[in-house]
Amino acid sequence: MPTQCLFCNIINGTIPAHKVYEDNDVIAFLDINQTTNGHTLVLPKSHFDHFLNTPKAQMNLVMNVAQRIGQAQIQVLHAKGVNILSNALQAAGQTVLHFHVHVIPRYEANDRFKIEMLKHDQHNLLNLPVLANQLKSGINLK
Ligand code: AMP
Ligand code: ZN
Repeated sequence: MPTQCLFCNIINGTIPAHKVYEDNDVIAFLDINQTTNGHTLVLPKSHFDHFLNTPKAQMNLVMNVAQRIGQAQIQVLHAKGVNILSNALQAAGQTVLHFHVHVIPRYEANDRFKIEMLKHDQHNLLNLPVLANQLKSGINLK
């Protein structure tokens, strides 16, 4: 039955995809845009909007499959490395609101994927002890 969610529609078979893995809880299929050869999305079959609100049991199942797919990308596609990425919420670039992990095989420095982490340009204005304490106080230890 069609739903509003693109990935739920792939899971229920309404929209086709090139599946590379499926079990009772998790599905993986090729990203339609193939940033690099073999770029794969791994997701829980149950709908959760993003990484931050996915129950840990489902997240662990997804990460287990993501690891196996990364290993396969090295073994059979001869990737030289793998980036694991989950965009959570629009500000982080999430475009499909169904938790998924990108498993992106890497072949050489100038392939089509770039992550650039710039250094803070005013490092002397940062108060790292205060920042660390702020974050510590917000971590849910359950
Ligand atoms: P994100 O932007 O992190 O939410 O990732 C969503 C990803 O879904 C993008 O990389 C898209 O290329 C990919 N995508 C969108 N539509 C499809 C589709 N029909 N089949 C496979 N991948 C898709
Ligand atoms: Zn969904």
